[in-house]
Amino acid sequence: GDMADKVEKTFKFVIVGGGIAGVTCVEQLSSQIPSAEVALITAGPHIKAVTNYKQVSKMLEEFDVEERPASVLEEKFPNLTVIHSAVKSLHTQSHSVETADGRIFGYEKLCICSGGRPKLLTQENPYVLGIRDTDSAQEFQKRLSKAKRIVVVGNGGIALELVYEVEGCEVIWAVKDKAIGNTFFDAGAAQFLIPSLEAEKPERAAPCKRPRYTTEEPAAGASHTFTAGLHLSLLLFSVEYQCEVEKIFTSEELLNSQQQTLRPENGSWPVYIQLTNGKTFGCDFIVSATGVVPNAEPFLYGNNFALADDGGLQVDDHMMTSEPDVYAAGDVCTACWEHSPLWQQMRLWTQARQMGWYAGRCMVADILSEPIELDFCFELFSHITKFFNYKVVLLGKFNGQGLGPDHELLVRCTKGQEYVKVVLSGGRMVGAVLIGETDLEETFENLILNQMDLTPYGEELLNPNVDIEDYFD
Ligand code: FAD
Repeated sequence: GDMADKVEKTFKFVIVGGGIAGVTCVEQLSSQIPSAEVALITAGPHIKAVTNYKQVSKMLEEFDVEERPASVLEEKFPNLTVIHSAVKSLHTQSHSVETADGRIFGYEKLCICSGGRPKLLTQENPYVLGIRDTDSAQEFQKRLSKAKRIVVVGNGGIALELVYEVEGCEVIWAVKDKAIGNTFFDAGAAQFLIPSLEAEKPERAAPCKRPRYTTEEPAAGASHTFTAGLHLSLLLFSVEYQCEVEKIFTSEELLNSQQQTLRPENGSWPVYIQLTNGKTFGCDFIVSATGVVPNAEPFLYGNNFALADDGGLQVDDHMMTSEPDVYAAGDVCTACWEHSPLWQQMRLWTQARQMGWYAGRCMVADILSEPIELDFCFELFSHITKFFNYKVVLLGKFNGQGLGPDHELLVRCTKGQEYVKVVLSGGRMVGAVLIGETDLEETFENLILNQMDLTPYGEELLNPNVDIEDYFD
């Protein structure tokens, strides 16, 4: 039969996904046009809410993310309907979506905010865990309590956080880069942070000696081993640099394969991981923290979406996909407008919120035939977070992304206290990494935004005895 006959209800706005992007979009639409019928279709029972929102400076924002029952939203917005089911297919021709429980809903404007799903090393291996949300994080904690050794694969924010949190279990961390945290840091910042992995954490229950560690540049395939003196079982942590996963196998598979590197322990672990540097490790389980892939799959069949190289739905400067009346925001989309020279997309909470909010405004503007300009928040990349218990602020092209060889770096580092890096291009500040309580974020943000020529100041810019704010007031 005809799709249109089966449509249960048509909404002015339909938003798919109850993550930060979707919820922010719903809030924006419902407050801008309170009379509009809005539907939020989401797979899980909970939605993600932004709490404790704080504007730290012009560009920097800070907030917490909490899971809430979806009813909280419905109570706030009387014209909002929350539909608890996954979208199975999208029919852009007839402007309708079909859910897993077989219902069909129509839309005037649709916004896809279905986020990402973890890239898994292998499909359906019970010894490989992908950390995706609070459910999988709890599963991780449960299994960790019984584990003696785990292998963490990946080098993004999730892996960083994970290896810092793990206690009382040996951790082998496989990263494909020359330094840890490559998505966020250069080798210098990584070196600054590494001691925190072995240092006593404030809340650590059992006392252990401060471990030894080596700080020479890792060679390709080299590993750092950090041991806690006599307390080997308490803290054993090593990084395998510049390697990826070659193969994952069970103990039987290992014994049958006549590995050349058979050690006495081999055969006694539930799972083995072979890395591209030739080393094989046995462990209780493997954590895959290798990032996410945009969750665009359910929406593609029968439609004509332009996809980016990373698999995201391409969106323009109005958050519009290539299909009429279909918008996208958050991890599922790839920003394909001409970026400001100081901005890049990174799949983070801040950008999910900014995109959801801006997509909502664009949808309203389009309905009302009003013009709208790309929001100011996309002028300068900014992110504030905590790694290894340090405050971390990232601004602009903080890692010299896309700058070529003609950029300059200024670095100031006080061990255990702060790490400040400034990226200059043509004498102008284009990025910064601030670790610790530097109190420099506002000044640097201004210097990046106003693109002042800083050549006359030279290295004085980072002289801790000079109050640089005085310079620029
Ligand atoms: P999501 O939050 O992924 O939400 C997607 C929603 O869509 C979900 O509600 C899902 O149920 C729903 N959905 C999916 N498919 C369908 C469908 N077919 N039909 C209906 N509903 C569907 N970022 C930070 O800035 N700071 C951090 O500390 C941080 N930590 C992270 C830790 C982990 C373990 C992970 C995985 C990511 C972390 N991130 C962090 C990244 C951040 O979580 C994401 O960038 C952000 O959540 C993206 O928001 P979103 O709304 O686009 O998608």
